[in-house]
Amino acid sequence: MENIQMLLKQGAVGKPCASIVAVGDKVKRGQLIATPTGLGANVHSSVSGEVIDITEDRIIIKPDDEQSKDYVKIPEEITDPLEMIKYAGIIGQGGAGFPTFIKIYNGKENKPVLDHGYILVNASECEPGLAHNIAQIDADPETLLRGIHYLMDIAGADKGIIAIKKKHRETIEKLDALLKDDPAIERHLLPDIYPMGEERAVVRECLGIELEPSQLPSAANAVVINSETVYSCAKAVEDRKPLIDKNITVRGMIKGGSEAHVFMDVPVGRSVQALIDEAGGFDERGYGEVIMGGSFTGKATTLDAPITKATGAILVTRPFRDLHGAKVGILVCACGGNLERMQDLVKKYNGTECHVCYCKQAAEMPNGTRKCERPGNCPGQVKNNLEFKKAGCEYIIIGNCSDCSNTVMASGPKMGLKVMHMTDLAMMAVGHPLYRTLRVSKKVDQDLNVVDNPEDNETVE
Ligand code: SF4
Repeated sequence: MENIQMLLKQGAVGKPCASIVAVGDKVKRGQLIATPTGLGANVHSSVSGEVIDITEDRIIIKPDDEQSKDYVKIPEEITDPLEMIKYAGIIGQGGAGFPTFIKIYNGKENKPVLDHGYILVNASECEPGLAHNIAQIDADPETLLRGIHYLMDIAGADKGIIAIKKKHRETIEKLDALLKDDPAIERHLLPDIYPMGEERAVVRECLGIELEPSQLPSAANAVVINSETVYSCAKAVEDRKPLIDKNITVRGMIKGGSEAHVFMDVPVGRSVQALIDEAGGFDERGYGEVIMGGSFTGKATTLDAPITKATGAILVTRPFRDLHGAKVGILVCACGGNLERMQDLVKKYNGTECHVCYCKQAAEMPNGTRKCERPGNCPGQVKNNLEFKKAGCEYIIIGNCSDCSNTVMASGPKMGLKVMHMTDLAMMAVGHPLYRTLRVSKKVDQDLNVVDNPEDNETVE
């Protein structure tokens, strides 16, 4: 196995942890190697081996030749489930990587964060082409339910709701069979459009409460937790396992086809290159870029980059076509790439940045990031298209949700604008329809007895 790189900051939020090991130390898989210096969560070694370097942002470990699935367990003296989750270093595994123990318990006031509220489990696997969350639920729905109960007890919830896309019919049937005997947990079906996994979209869909961009789910007496994170909490409580392994989807321009390669329990810190190799290696037709994360919210990465506790996917895209310097307008959405990411794409297409617009619902937050005011419900994009036209753009590149891409298409092409979506090259590589026009209604029938075409809410070219 290649050298393992354990980043001292595993998620997008918080401060880097401080190493508690030294170069030359022998470490065991599961051993605590770094602790928080502020907002953050413990980091444990995902392999047994020797620490060969410690830099400002990572601990590098040379793995022993022999590795085992065993690990150093959470110490016996820790018996409280909240403390186990804290010690295990669990962070949200579906996105920003916020420490879970803080999300579910108010340590300052020493009380649960909810008052007879809701644990909303985000099983939407919202980014297109990903498959590891549903594969995990499919393989072991029982542990998911036990994990929800642990979280409900800690957070002060009376109810758990699993939010899952209606297209996962077999998984839903497995869950339904178990939920018959578990009245505290139910499931809610989501339409297959982006961004149904956005926290406030999950709250809106499950509870019918529309939150402001600045509000957290706690304003709706709810906590939203990604399904893989629920499993990690259950493993911390039941198996005393620290968060050292990650499930991941590798997909795209990989030898052998565009099907998803789902790897379960990959040691955190393995490299992008190693996982692409294990999936079969690069397709000989070449590729454009490698994205770490989903095609909307992920970022271009390098082959030597390590996966973290929050990495959801490695996507290898189709090669970029050459726009020969054509003028490209950028339409930024709160739920897609930020301006920097979109500008990077324009360069990779060899386009010339011409004009920038923001979706008018992409509200700017005090920290400079943007959040959508009503995720997935488009305010209309004609005004932006007119601006692009006036600025002389030949192409526009958009990062919009399904609904807004649909409204861009309602006027953009009629004005002579050639529309590209930031996810196009990834979607072509994974065999997913391009984000352009919504084919049918977004309505979801919550009654599974009604047989719908699972393709109904897909977007098509
Ligand atoms: S409404 Fe606008 S900001 Fe919100 S998801 Fe759609 S494109 Fe993004």
